Amino acid sequence: MITCKDFLRELSDYLDDATDPALRAELERHINECPNCWVICDTTRKTIQVFRGMDLHPLPEKVHQKLMDALARKAQERAQKNGAAGLNQG
Ligand SMILES: [Zn+2]
Repeated sequence: MITCKDFLRELSDYLDDATDPALRAELERHINECPNCWVICDTTRKTIQVFRGMDLHPLPEKVHQKLMDALARKAQERAQKNGAAGLNQG
């Protein structure tokens, strides 16, 4: 029989699929019978999914392209300035 304390201790393993099937079944039965742990489990799972989603999409393609354009322009401006300065100095 699993208590809330047991469940919370195993929660991160449970969400990582790291528990063995027997324990997993026990944990799932506890969630079905205990609304408190169900809410905690559901909230934690969603939080983890949000963080993992961010990892999968680090930078939208458009933002990346804009950054690269800005960097290229900066480099070009600097090169032109350096060239002009060189001419002025003779
Ligand atoms: Zn519980």
